[in-house]
Amino acid sequence: MGEKIKIAQYWGAGCGGCDVALLDIDAMILDVHAIADVVFWPIGFDGKIKDIEAMPDKSITVSFYNGAIRNSENEHIAKLLRQKSVLMISFGSCACYGGTPGLANVTNRKEIFETVYKNTQSTDNPSFVVPQTHIKVKEGELELPEFYDTVKTLDEVVDVDYFMPGCPPTTNLIAMAVSAVAQYVTKGTPLPPKGAVIASDKTLCDECKRERVEKGRRIERIYQAYEIKPDPKKCLLDQGIICIGPATRAGCGAMCPNAQMPCRGCMGPTKGVMEQGASMLSALSSLLNITDAESKMSEEQIMELMMQVKDPLGTFYAFTLPKSALKRAVTERGRRKAVS
Ligand code: SF4
Ligand code: SF4
Ligand code: SF4
Repeated sequence: MGEKIKIAQYWGAGCGGCDVALLDIDAMILDVHAIADVVFWPIGFDGKIKDIEAMPDKSITVSFYNGAIRNSENEHIAKLLRQKSVLMISFGSCACYGGTPGLANVTNRKEIFETVYKNTQSTDNPSFVVPQTHIKVKEGELELPEFYDTVKTLDEVVDVDYFMPGCPPTTNLIAMAVSAVAQYVTKGTPLPPKGAVIASDKTLCDECKRERVEKGRRIERIYQAYEIKPDPKKCLLDQGIICIGPATRAGCGAMCPNAQMPCRGCMGPTKGVMEQGASMLSALSSLLNITDAESKMSEEQIMELMMQVKDPLGTFYAFTLPKSALKRAVTERGRRKAVS
């Protein structure tokens, strides 16, 4: 084959797990090496932004962007890599849906700074010094990225070609993407349509081996995972443990239910659904007999049932708050309450 292709990987607002996941493809890394040069990978080597800026537009074949957009540097690199790349892949749940960092959208920059730089017990900062984007010191002017008020998904700031969800994406999905790019480069095999999600189109329950109640599914109450010892063969949701499987895209092999833990929904919503949280809430309401018996149940009874869901936002929107229709609604309602 001719000249190697160029790939880039960037770590935005995330935990670094997506970078490690890329290394987990084991021997397939040799396939990557055979066809590609990695031109930018901050966690892997000391690349310089100015070197990427100097590259011609579209000279990088594919950029994998993981992490959400939390600050101006994340956004700058996202735009730079978009400009320089033929393909932009939103890699991992933080980039695709906001992920865990996106839960910070229940608050804002002011409150985060107050907590981090003032109100924690270990903080000694009487003048409430907080990071500034520009500050003059005797050596010159220092510049820091601007910390945004709101966490955004990658596709809110740049055009994205493919979405690869997961926290982090599993090795088989990464292998699928690497193989698709390799086939495209070496044999001209067409890529999936733009905007495709590199995962399964089924729901997680479809790939979960646990036995579900087929007819008349009902639960009487909700349990936290530590409160009961579930039957290892039966569906966790049927046993009263909230498992987000019905509202989650398949592709991970249902690894959490396989390990006796409920799914938290990191693969994001199922095909054609944007509201993973509302989708799960609706499934749960039906299981709890709230929807069918709505007219017979008092508001107090419904509240009592729903109060059994500890941390509803963290339960239903652990990975997708910035992408959901809720967006900043929780914070704004809180602000209105505080003002009134
Ligand atoms: S998707 Fe998960 S593993 Fe990847 S950066 Fe975000 S939190 Fe980390
Ligand atoms: S709800 Fe969870 S445990 Fe039950 S079948 Fe679906 S993924 Fe499996
Ligand atoms: S089972 Fe759910 S939380 Fe666990 S890896 Fe799969 S999608 Fe993510």
